[in-house]
Amino acid sequence: MFDILIKNGIVADGDSDETRQADIAITAGSIAYIAHSIETNNAKKVIDAKGQIVAPGFVDVHSHSDYYLIIDSRASSKVLQGVTSEIGGNCGYSAAPMSGEVLERRAKDYKEQFGIDVNWSGMNEFLETLSNAKPAVNFGALLGYNTIRGSIMGPNSSQPSAHDMKEIKGMIAQGLDDGALGMSVGVVYPPACFAKAEEFVEAYKVVAEKEKVFTSHIRSEGAGLLDALTEVTNVARKSGAKLQVSHLKTAGKANWGKLDRAFDILESARADGVWLMADRYPYLASNTGLQVALPDRAFDGGRDMLVEKLKNPKEREAFKADILLNHPEAEYWDTVMVSQVVTEKNKDIEGLTVSEGAKKRGKDIFTYFFDLLVEENTEIEAIFFCMTQENMDRIIEKPWVVIGSDAGARAIDGPLALGRPHPRTFGTFPKFFKEYVREKQMFTIPEAVKKTTTHACDFFGIKNRGRLKKGWAADVVVFNPDTIGDTSTYVAPLSYPTGINCVLVNGVLTVENGKETGRTGGTILTA
Ligand SMILES: [Zn+2]
Repeated sequence: MFDILIKNGIVADGDSDETRQADIAITAGSIAYIAHSIETNNAKKVIDAKGQIVAPGFVDVHSHSDYYLIIDSRASSKVLQGVTSEIGGNCGYSAAPMSGEVLERRAKDYKEQFGIDVNWSGMNEFLETLSNAKPAVNFGALLGYNTIRGSIMGPNSSQPSAHDMKEIKGMIAQGLDDGALGMSVGVVYPPACFAKAEEFVEAYKVVAEKEKVFTSHIRSEGAGLLDALTEVTNVARKSGAKLQVSHLKTAGKANWGKLDRAFDILESARADGVWLMADRYPYLASNTGLQVALPDRAFDGGRDMLVEKLKNPKEREAFKADILLNHPEAEYWDTVMVSQVVTEKNKDIEGLTVSEGAKKRGKDIFTYFFDLLVEENTEIEAIFFCMTQENMDRIIEKPWVVIGSDAGARAIDGPLALGRPHPRTFGTFPKFFKEYVREKQMFTIPEAVKKTTTHACDFFGIKNRGRLKKGWAADVVVFNPDTIGDTSTYVAPLSYPTGINCVLVNGVLTVENGKETGRTGGTILTA
């Protein structure tokens, strides 16, 4: 007797270049049998998938859910998109391993904002806590280099001594042994922004030795894009680690013409034998902390020191001069929208651009910008409208680019229904299928399924997932190819997509008829 039988669906199994009509039987969390027709009276539950695509659940290779899965284990914004697995800990920021000041600050922040106890330090302890939370999605962890460097060396710009490097490498090796799939770095963020390429080469040799993945939010995605890509590909060449370039883009109009040269750098690394991929979300705006507009030196010494600097009129003048060098055009601030603040008193400016917010507060742009950072203790999320459709299409078209949301799991209710998160949080995968498969027909369904599942599992070395195969984990999405689509917008983002009918995670029916069932079946992914 099978637990679940998915009948009459059009199967895109992640392997074949064709779809085929087939029934899929599931028992004890795994795919028990796939055949043209399986008797319904052999199953406890039957799902009729007539006219719908049955595919391996989507793998979100670029997630920031780490803490969120503990705060709200439903992972609603993910499972309702058809995502069954996530890879978190991206952009250098991971929930583990961490120690010292980093751990103290995070424990305080997450207790205050979400009421959770950050009572872990090592990756093994974090994964145990996460597993106990019984998340709805599978989670693969990356170590965050920024988190590790901050733990060992503090939040400052100093260069590592031989002793520091030994400790850093020890922490990396332990984290990988504890189950991490690789290590991320956010070179644009402190304290990794203070590190030189040689430091990354040393650190990533540990990752390469264990045949794990190196993911990088590179040093610049705008004016310094080409240098940053050269740097990161050289780190991959010299360390030997597999490289995933995070959210590949050309940010800022002045840099849109650099895409061909960017492709040349990446494709020549591939030609040299670097196993290289990139991820991308199908949106034209990026999302990160508002403070990213500040120069690197602002972050030397950590957050408390940054807030003090931001109160100092002299520092403000110097920061302003630096910001104006990068963004001389006054319209720049019309393209930056504050999406989430922490304090109650500033909630009214969520959803407003920096220009609009400044006007509302009756301040000039820079006074408003610095005041806001001080009032919010620098914890401000912002959306930057900086990309172009043509380049996005060309990036997504590349066979070595996979889809990743760059978002953590959220929900339209509960503790994570906060602010105005980037719509990629709710719509990445349905939007990809709607625009790139149904509308532009850039990919067939089997190609799109590989781009959202199979390639990611192969690259990260995740076994028994990313394909519908006998004996493999029953991570399955059933969706309507004619109606799959996003509904989340920049203005009203808290909105689930359409066309996702059923989602199974390790055989647990998590979404049925487009609604969450309340059951969760996620596990920790290892490679
Ligand atoms: Zn990033």
